[in-house]
Amino acid sequence: MHKYLTLLLLLPSLSFANAVPKQLYAPGGVVSIALGSVTKPAPEVYFQEQRVLVLAKGKQWVAVVGIPLSIQPGAHSIQLKSAESSQTFDFRIFAKDYPAQYITLKNKRMVNPNPDDTQRISNERPAINKALNTWTQQVVEEISFALPVIGRLSSPFGLKRFFNNQPKNPHSGLDIAAPTGTTISAPASGLVINTGSYYYNGNSVFIDHGQGLISGYFHLSKISVKAGQLVEQGTKLGEVGETGRVTGPHLHWNVYLNKTKVDPALFVPELAVEAK
Ligand SMILES: [Zn+2]
Repeated sequence: MHKYLTLLLLLPSLSFANAVPKQLYAPGGVVSIALGSVTKPAPEVYFQEQRVLVLAKGKQWVAVVGIPLSIQPGAHSIQLKSAESSQTFDFRIFAKDYPAQYITLKNKRMVNPNPDDTQRISNERPAINKALNTWTQQVVEEISFALPVIGRLSSPFGLKRFFNNQPKNPHSGLDIAAPTGTTISAPASGLVINTGSYYYNGNSVFIDHGQGLISGYFHLSKISVKAGQLVEQGTKLGEVGETGRVTGPHLHWNVYLNKTKVDPALFVPELAVEAK
């Protein structure tokens, strides 16, 4: 009886453990690199001087590296620091040509903020940066996200963006269009590290999933969680809205690894299967 129970308890973790995001060796992508046997302690890993998430996959430690949209294609490397040595692992990033998107905004202050708006934006930045700079040294067993909203994928990650014909930062998240009031659910367990109302992002929630894996939820009509709250996959975070810089109600979903925005679709198994 005891053996049977133990087996039952172990099975779910056996079948779901060790999931890593879909690989994309391109700007905005995610690269997983096997580092060596888990019989040794986990190494500390850095990419462009930022600490990198490391998890156990099978018998190997694996670094899960976020690749910035701004990276130059070509040879790159991660640095490992362990008790005994430091070591370098090389990998190659290939170019990816993301399409352009032209958006017309009636609210011109969302394209060219006035001095008061600019002041507000810079006042808000420390709180947002503090959330994004969070590093919690905890075991990450698997990385697999559920879609936070049921809706239409309206704008993919990486689009080159023009607002009222002015070139702006590329689209650094995944947009899911749904009516105002649609429930937004946590895609995985984590800790709410910040909620707030920000100029471009509108009502926002940030979740820390451990080791620099952070997710952000923007343009909400309603926030249902508080900073410091633990959430499980499926916990309601809030409701879809159109606060901040938007053309209609949708969720803008960001995912960050090593302080880098990467394509959230790579973390959702059902979307990753469809991609390419
Ligand atoms: Zn968006």
